[in-house]
Amino acid sequence: MQALVKTGKGKGLVELRDVPVPTIGDSEVLIEVGACGICGTDIHIYEDEFPYYPPVTLGHEFSGTVAAIGKNVRGWAVGDRVVGEPHTMACGVCALCRTGNRQICPEKRSPGWGINGAFAPLMRWPEPALLHRIPNMLDFPAAALTEPLANVVTDVILPQTVMAGDVVAVAGPGPIGIMAALVAKYAGAARVIIFGVNDDEEIRLSLCRALPAIDNVVNVQKEDLSALVQDLTSGRGVDTFIEASGAQAAMKTGAQIIRKLGTVTAIGLTGRPAVEFPYDAFMKKSVRYLFNLSTKYESWDRAIHILAEGVIPHEQLISHKGSLGQWKDFFDALMARKAMKGMFLFNQGE
Ligand SMILES: [Zn+2]
Ligand SMILES: [Zn+2]
Repeated sequence: MQALVKTGKGKGLVELRDVPVPTIGDSEVLIEVGACGICGTDIHIYEDEFPYYPPVTLGHEFSGTVAAIGKNVRGWAVGDRVVGEPHTMACGVCALCRTGNRQICPEKRSPGWGINGAFAPLMRWPEPALLHRIPNMLDFPAAALTEPLANVVTDVILPQTVMAGDVVAVAGPGPIGIMAALVAKYAGAARVIIFGVNDDEEIRLSLCRALPAIDNVVNVQKEDLSALVQDLTSGRGVDTFIEASGAQAAMKTGAQIIRKLGTVTAIGLTGRPAVEFPYDAFMKKSVRYLFNLSTKYESWDRAIHILAEGVIPHEQLISHKGSLGQWKDFFDALMARKAMKGMFLFNQGE
């Protein structure tokens, strides 16, 4: 079968390769992949900016069908439609694992960088306990958004950063920022503002403007975000600031527009060794500033329910959908910010 493989250590070194059909052990399942989204992590691996164990098949944002089960597997059957938490090979015995935080276990090696992932029609899935069922009403492309949406749920909903009536600002109008804005609104925010820069204008901000759940879409290089926030909040500032850009300038903006005793939640990495951070400005406002890496178990079923309710306009969000053969075009478009979300389809009318 054909798989998209990171072949060695270094920049680039990604190619379509013929690889053997995976075999499974007695406690494992084989997944027939339906769809798999391209994550920022896949791009980081392409660029050699994230740890990986080559040669390795990329891709972790998958949805699919159980195609075979090992003889010791309980609770799963061939034909089950699933998505899976990528926390494979966590040790299970460290303090983090034993307190329900296997997503940050140092031993963890996930599909797509630590073991072979889902940019292939079939994938060996070593830990059935990490799978989640998806409803029939959810198609595979929509369901493949579960993993990134579970990140948003982990960072926005589980720590209760948004309450009914809040004014929320989101930095970074990429797929994660947009999903965060929509989830904040769904969670009861009175008003959601999303902001970006000139480079975001063509694809990202124009999509945001087409989404009725997002109340204000601001290009901070053209419009005065602070004045808008002052007006909306009687000068107090936003209740919640969601940092989904990784950009230094946005952190500074966040420090300006957050209210005293407000909450800041950070989603995703900056990709840099260090950033200039307005520490004192946040301190003086006594904000609650939250960091979370990856996803928690309880985010997954919530993310699936949110997707099934149609809160996330996946048709608009997934700008590039096609076969694995188009990978280079999709990667290039994503790196040039000419795409929102890229996704490969498998084993179905691609
Ligand atoms: Zn991801
Ligand atoms: Zn562990």
